[in-house]
Amino acid sequence: MPDVIKVLLLPFVFLLIGVLASAQMNIIPPVWQQTLPVVLLSTFLVLFGLAWRFNKGRLILVVFALCYPLLMVKQFPNHSISDFVTVSLIALFIAGLVSEKGFANRFSFNRLLFIGMLVLWNMAEIREWVSFDKLDQMDVPIVEKSIRSSLLMVIEVVVLGVICTRAILQNDRFSASVLVSAVALIVMHYLPLDVNQIQLILVTQGALWCWFLLVESHRMAYRDELTGLPSRRSLNEDFMALPKSYAIAMVDVDHFKKFNDTYGHDMGDEVLRRVSSILADECHYGSVYRYGGEEFTVLYRGKKVEKAEEELDHIRSWIEDEQIEVVHRDSKKRVSVTASFGLALGGGQDEGYETLKKADESLYQAKKKGRNRLVVYGKRGKSATKEKT
Ligand code: GH3
Ligand code: MG
Ligand code: MG
Repeated sequence: MPDVIKVLLLPFVFLLIGVLASAQMNIIPPVWQQTLPVVLLSTFLVLFGLAWRFNKGRLILVVFALCYPLLMVKQFPNHSISDFVTVSLIALFIAGLVSEKGFANRFSFNRLLFIGMLVLWNMAEIREWVSFDKLDQMDVPIVEKSIRSSLLMVIEVVVLGVICTRAILQNDRFSASVLVSAVALIVMHYLPLDVNQIQLILVTQGALWCWFLLVESHRMAYRDELTGLPSRRSLNEDFMALPKSYAIAMVDVDHFKKFNDTYGHDMGDEVLRRVSSILADECHYGSVYRYGGEEFTVLYRGKKVEKAEEELDHIRSWIEDEQIEVVHRDSKKRVSVTASFGLALGGGQDEGYETLKKADESLYQAKKKGRNRLVVYGKRGKSATKEKT
């Protein structure tokens, strides 16, 4: 399944549940329906609290966008949701375009100030302090509806188009959830829904964003920020349930300190990203983790252990062949790095950490023997390759 579909699938399931449940409103007991405002308020309070704890400022815009139309309809009962949806869509549009800058700072203040101006404009319109009558009386041949509603429709199409393109290009959970919330607002705009039905859709939207924050916090805890690989915490958890037969490899980039000192820390980070993507792409039998610094761990389970040695040596030569463009003393050049590997078989009485220690000892041997090679614990002489400097 393409990644973009994977990312969009679950947010759309939340939306579908909301829309289907609101279509079946008549079978929901009235007592339950009466609790909807409380459930909605609690969901959004939880969401707001989580956004604050996780320092996610863009979620303030999302919470505002979802709550605004309903709050305004309650305030102005003779107006419909559609009079307020455009402001919400613009808030979502901004949330989708800006980068995350945290919860309470000048960036979120500036964004809220802009949204405040939109709200003021919206209020002025509702209270008829400004009027589009003159504009609507103009006879524009290609525009069938009033100029105002045509203008709003154009804004909606553009906003939705940009949010949709961004969700496809970015391919991340945040943009996908923004797109789904924008579609939820469009559904609320064009379907003839009563307040209870809207509340039900909003509850599922609140749940979607709470889910987003939980998945994000899980990712932050278990994934390494720089390489995107599972982190050491992930490895520790996998150690808790190892199979009877397994193997652990420790991988360490050679002379990495020298590389950093020569080409700079940013280029060093680029090397780590390249090495990790080679490990992730070329390691078909094992699971790869970033152990820390320029060290990686590969864990082979069960029968896949038999493939470990061959696969690791193959990865070693991939890393050796990878060309990285660097700028050094104002001129561009291509360089490469090498990595050393230590492999140890686990199982029997050994705990994962003991096997890891053995793999580390083998790695130390690989370094001592001249680097850019794989040493298997308890096995003599393997894979000697000329060291690069
Ligand atoms: P050896 O071949 O013996 O492994 O030597 P080495 O220089 O690779 O090993 P050493 O432990 O002396 O240096 C590791 C360096 O890795 C030091 C540290 O600055 C660098 N490093 C650790 N984490 C990162 C990181 O996330 N980014 C960058 N750019 N450098 C890092
Ligand atoms: Mg090291
Ligand atoms: Mg090293």
